[in-house]
Amino acid sequence: MTHRYFSQSPLVGDQALLVGSEAHHLVHVMRARPGARVVLFDGGGAEYDAVVERPGRSRVELRLTARREVDREAAVAITLGVALPKGERQRWLVEKAVELGVRRLVPLATARSVAQPGEHVLERLRRTVVEASKQCGRNRLMEIAPPQGLADYVGAAGPRVLRLLAHARADPERDVEEVPRGPPTLEPPAGGGAYLAVGPEGGFTEDEVGLAGATGWQVVDLGPRTLRVETAALVLVTLALSGSVSVRRG
Ligand code: SAH
Repeated sequence: MTHRYFSQSPLVGDQALLVGSEAHHLVHVMRARPGARVVLFDGGGAEYDAVVERPGRSRVELRLTARREVDREAAVAITLGVALPKGERQRWLVEKAVELGVRRLVPLATARSVAQPGEHVLERLRRTVVEASKQCGRNRLMEIAPPQGLADYVGAAGPRVLRLLAHARADPERDVEEVPRGPPTLEPPAGGGAYLAVGPEGGFTEDEVGLAGATGWQVVDLGPRTLRVETAALVLVTLALSGSVSVRRG
């Protein structure tokens, strides 16, 4: 695949300008000369063939030669609510969520969450979204929403979407209370998307799980091992996508 670069300003007309780290990468890492061909995207859903005209120290002028609407979005519109882990694991999670086609990531504030990400952390995550989109070919950026409390998040998902909250059943050795269980319904209602919820390292409280269950969320157990937040998140995304993947026949 031709190298992809992200334009912070919407691409209109036939001229484009790359600045900052995108210009740096093109000129100083890839050593692009006038005439070099690249692909640009601006997050609006299209991609553009472009030719480098004036590679400068901190800005590169390019000419757009073709525009294509290329849809690489997932078939299910997924909102992933997750109590974010820290540091590198947080970035890893965001990168994988972009690759899997998650439409919107909502950092969840829960009873046992650690500190909420501040504006500079959210900005860094948005940079990770751009990098992952360049790599995986997405032409729309996954939105990183402002942090939201669990009650608001749970309430924001209407009955017309698939709603899955990950919560391990209590230790089977000690689980005296018999909660009826069965396989989840994974089909998003026609045309509907999916809302997913994953708790912090300390887990959701029983009150939080009860709140979600009372409003129609499915509480999903992923087996008798404690998964990392990011592992549980990717499993829920995969479940939500399971109706839309395809196998080759013959
Ligand atoms: N100490 C916590 C574990 C939290 S793991 C506890 O005992 O509940 C972090 C989050 O990942 C959980 O809140 C849940 O959303 C998800 N998760 C981890 N393991 C899971 C499992 N086996 N089944 C379902 N969800 C799980």
